[in-house]
Amino acid sequence: MGHPEKAAEFIADDERMHWHDKALWFVRKKRDVAAHGLDEWEELRRVASEIKTHTISKLDHYLEEFEKNAKEKGLHVHWAKDAQEHNEIVLKLLLSRGAKKLVKSKSMLTEECHLNPFLEKNGIEVVDTDLGERIVQLRKEAPSHIVLPAIHLKKEDVGKTFEKFLKTEKDNCDPTYLTREARKHLREKFLNADASLTGVNFGIAETGGIVVCTNEGNADLGASLPSLHIASMGIEKIIPRLEDLSIFTRLLARSATGQPITSYTSHFHAPVENGEMHIIIVDNGRSNIIGNEDFVQSLNCIRCGACINTCPVYRRSGGHSYGYTIPGPIGSTLGASKDLRTNKTLPFACTLCASCSNVCPVKINLHNQLYKHRQSVVAAGLLDFKKHTALKIATWVMKHPALMDFSGKLARKIVPKLPRSILYSKANIWGKKRELPEFPKNSFKELYKARKK
Ligand code: SF4
Repeated sequence: MGHPEKAAEFIADDERMHWHDKALWFVRKKRDVAAHGLDEWEELRRVASEIKTHTISKLDHYLEEFEKNAKEKGLHVHWAKDAQEHNEIVLKLLLSRGAKKLVKSKSMLTEECHLNPFLEKNGIEVVDTDLGERIVQLRKEAPSHIVLPAIHLKKEDVGKTFEKFLKTEKDNCDPTYLTREARKHLREKFLNADASLTGVNFGIAETGGIVVCTNEGNADLGASLPSLHIASMGIEKIIPRLEDLSIFTRLLARSATGQPITSYTSHFHAPVENGEMHIIIVDNGRSNIIGNEDFVQSLNCIRCGACINTCPVYRRSGGHSYGYTIPGPIGSTLGASKDLRTNKTLPFACTLCASCSNVCPVKINLHNQLYKHRQSVVAAGLLDFKKHTALKIATWVMKHPALMDFSGKLARKIVPKLPRSILYSKANIWGKKRELPEFPKNSFKELYKARKK
């Protein structure tokens, strides 16, 4: 199923669709207030974009610098060319140390690598410790948002989920009660874990350390209690210097949730006492994007989710409708870059309104990328036959002004008289959820001519 079919499932629940839309717009508005509160906001965006673009253009240099400095600090560095290699490195590290219980803090990279099912198949208990992630993990669902993984659920849904898996009180969906129960449940998992895995928000080449940003402190607890800490980092997460970090931390939380800073911005530059820290640097298709100047900017992403919150298509179609690990505008471009055939409908899940590009803290030209991907879909012959034919006819008509005028006249005369059964038949996909507007008596051209006289 492509995006349109999955989106249709989501919007079938009208109430949920409106509620989802409103919830994300609320976050978007908070972002606006936070961004407008800084006079230097646009300057920060410009500098962040330049730092990222520079870093990606010299990625080999910065990654090697990072590795050298990390090793000097006693950290272990591994390289994984793809998801399979990444997962095998994690498994080997766990098995060789007899680790059977892993606590994980939020990492979209491990979602992308499908790490959880791989480890579970190999006898490892994996517990996602971010509250939203834990909720979707218990429900056997994928996160529907990169910052707010359970945003598609209401507190009643969470109450039912906890009732089933954590044996909470029947029909109690009070958020404070549920949060306390989740904390109790997760504390026990933290205390009994053999190893932890975190994502990486920023890897600092100059210091060889990593930075993880969370609001719940779960990454810190996970990384501090067990003696083995594994960090999975995409190659694009590198920034050159420690002083660059403040630019990104000021942008990240404001763009994500409208907070001035995430509650925990944790620096990991050494293992815990008598422990080990391993960093796995993962490519998994990213270096292919570096070679494409149309899409290379997508690697600048700091995963704030602002483009997702503002996107009118995402807000009304939900994260699961994308079918790719990362939903929304950034997911659509990354997904199409990775596998155009599988993700061919994603570049069309876009109104080209450019709201995503306008809010992006690192100024990624998201809507331009989606437009380019559409062209690639057409060039690769992957466009749906009906759409392709309709567009071909429309192009031909529009290229012939006389024919265009005649067709318009004909349509204005005939279409309003057609019975609904024909007008809104299956052939009219556009009319599935919309009413045609009232047809004007005259075209713009005719009105213009008349006015001129
Ligand atoms: S593309 Fe920009 S707005 Fe979207 S998640 Fe990445 S950094 Fe945030």
